Amino acid sequence: MSEARVLDGVKIAAEIKAEVGAEARALLKSGGVTPGLAVVLVGHVAASEIYVRSKVKASVELGLVSETHTPPESVTTDELLALVAELNARESVDGILIQLPLPAHVDTRRVLEAVSPEKDVDGFHPINAGLLQAGRPALAPCTPAGIMEILRRSGIAVVGKHAVVLGRSDIVGKPAAMMLLSAHATVTVCHSRTVDLARYTRDADILIAAIGKAGFVTAEMVKPGATLIDVGINRITDADEVARFFPGDAVRVKQFAERGSTLVGDIHPAAFAKAGAYTPVPGGVGALTIAMLMHNTVQAAKARRGVGA
Ligand code: NAP
Repeated sequence: MSEARVLDGVKIAAEIKAEVGAEARALLKSGGVTPGLAVVLVGHVAASEIYVRSKVKASVELGLVSETHTPPESVTTDELLALVAELNARESVDGILIQLPLPAHVDTRRVLEAVSPEKDVDGFHPINAGLLQAGRPALAPCTPAGIMEILRRSGIAVVGKHAVVLGRSDIVGKPAAMMLLSAHATVTVCHSRTVDLARYTRDADILIAAIGKAGFVTAEMVKPGATLIDVGINRITDADEVARFFPGDAVRVKQFAERGSTLVGDIHPAAFAKAGAYTPVPGGVGALTIAMLMHNTVQAAKARRGVGA
């Protein structure tokens, strides 16, 4: 069997960012519009702060305007709703991103659903979920949109293929299934109550794993030559686990020794050898999410302001 092709998310993300940057420059030239992204970051969750920094950095690099609002941990639902209302009303703001998680006392659903659907660059609003399901233009959730870009830009055929999606979250699994269906795949969605899940995965031409369980999909569960898209991001901190997932991998062992942790996806690395193509972790799907957020912000600016369409 020939060696599995690595689907390089970092490279594809760079391509998309270059295109989005060019689109932003064209918008400025033709319509005097600079797309604006407003990020709401509540409290001091370290991981959220890192994500927001990366999003702001990407915005600046691509010529977008970004602003970050940092209410304290004690912020109330009503105060956040007032902030969202102000951002909804402001002409210069094209995209609004509420960095999750919000504190437990805040009504997250109410806050997310208060974001105007036309500024909902995360694609979480029920209006956008409904449009996506109806196959109509919508702001689509960034991670599954990134998966579709990986498939398309890598020339992986989707039409008529059996795509099996593991996980049914509103953020990844369900929208990924909808997008694959719109792209004419035959789609099966599996979840924690699926009986004999391997029966489905073994038949998958394209397998999307988004369940959040380190190395869950083993080599025996994969059809030879399949395309494996690994969405899972699981941090492992146990040396035995590192040895189990990455036997003989000197690079990983060194990285683990230096950092005390390493990342593994939902697909066991040993399964990749059986694939036709696969996304690595890190450097696969995760690399696309910010690029797709930038893409959504520019699309939101174009649609809302009626320019550059
Ligand atoms: P989530 O909301 O926790 O959903 C997990 C899904 O997996 C649920 O539908 C659950 O089924 C299913 N599941 C859990 N255990 C299972 C099992 N043993 N067998 C079959 N299905 C099982 O997770 P998520 O937000 O979709 O994220 C999934 C993974 O993707 C996580 O590792 C996350 O870190 C990663 N992620 C990556 C990115 C990125 O690359 N940028 C973005 C988002 C998420 P039920 O519905 O039955 O409970």
